[in-house]
Amino acid sequence: MRVLVLGGDGYLGWPTALHLSDSGHETAVLDNFARRGYDRELGVQSLVPIQDLDLRIAAWEEVSGRRIPSYVGDLLDADFVYTVLREFEPDAIVHFAEQRAAPYSMIDREHAVYTQHNNVVGTLNLMYAMAEINPDIHLVKLGTMGEYGTPNIDIEEGWLEVEHNGRKDRMLYPKKPGSFYHLSKVHDSHNLEFGCRVWGLRVTDLNQGVVYGQQTDQTVRDARLATRFDYDAVFGTVLNRFVIQAVLGEPLTVYGTGHQIRGFLDIRDTVECIRLAVENPADAGEFRVFNQMTESYSVAELAQHVADCFPGPVQVEQLDNPRVEQAEHYYNVKHTGLVGLGLQPHLLSDTLIDSMFDIVAANKDRVDHAALLPTVKWRGHLKS
Ligand code: NAD
Repeated sequence: MRVLVLGGDGYLGWPTALHLSDSGHETAVLDNFARRGYDRELGVQSLVPIQDLDLRIAAWEEVSGRRIPSYVGDLLDADFVYTVLREFEPDAIVHFAEQRAAPYSMIDREHAVYTQHNNVVGTLNLMYAMAEINPDIHLVKLGTMGEYGTPNIDIEEGWLEVEHNGRKDRMLYPKKPGSFYHLSKVHDSHNLEFGCRVWGLRVTDLNQGVVYGQQTDQTVRDARLATRFDYDAVFGTVLNRFVIQAVLGEPLTVYGTGHQIRGFLDIRDTVECIRLAVENPADAGEFRVFNQMTESYSVAELAQHVADCFPGPVQVEQLDNPRVEQAEHYYNVKHTGLVGLGLQPHLLSDTLIDSMFDIVAANKDRVDHAALLPTVKWRGHLKS
């Protein structure tokens, strides 16, 4: 198949493009390098050095003999989006190209507006381009488990059978997102479901959990193929941060009680889930939702797991929670759709964490210690 990966220079987009290319799909990437710009804005960098997109692509061609064409531009530029779809003629589009950090969206009004404008308008431009050029293209769109929040009922895969005053309907699952970033994903989901209903688009919305890990079967073939490893308090995901803190001999910083439970998955499962979704498209007019996570842990359990695996003393420290979120809650998520398509999850194992300790140890001179501590508060940016 011909697959276009939007956000193909990012943490997940790049290894996904490699995985799809390695699986025999004609794969192209699109990116505007916004993510590299946030690094400069925040004064942070990936722990593992990453190459420019052109160099990465050349390295992949050298290693695999396969070429990945690139399109550099912004999804907010509708003419560019239309041109790329006409030129590349994808069968499937994988859409990672959004601002993806909840803390970034909560810095202040400007960052909230940027996030929602970038994410919602970029996706709208894409929907229109698909509807006008080829509604048969299958869109695999990255959403997040954070769209659901932590409701006091079981979380279904996107849809809920509702009975109200003696009548029944199948409705989009009600959402209780926890940041303006997560809200942007909810808005996308609603827009996309509408596009399926009115234009017959075919969409798979992947409500993805928090991803950990940095290596895939393809990225390990050459150091130039490495993907990002973010650890800072704005873009770093929690397990990656704990691993770094353990190696540096710093306390693992748990926000609040640490009893908040979230869904997680290994980066190797992310790339495989995308392949499975691409190769098993949604029907025309279908808004298909999968919960893309493999395990649930509380933040305190994760910290303890890292501490148990580390060959040395590790302290766990509770910080005042900068976020506004439920400290204690029910969490039971259905996530059988992707397993039904053949996913065989890599569950969080000691070997994975050991390999992450090694990656960190090899790059620990690059760590900016100040970047590990949270500076963005959910209520802190309001001017009184
Ligand atoms: P990332 O920031 O590393 O990658 C996103 C890429 O999209 C970047 O390279 C960026 O430059 C590009 N981009 C952003 N806006 C763009 C625009 N308007 N036009 C063109 N390119 C644009 O993020 P990631 O961690 O790889 O996440 C990818 C997707 O997966 C995101 O949509 C995110 O919400 C979702 N997701 C990620 C995680 C996670 O743990 N990383 C968890 C759940 C969901």
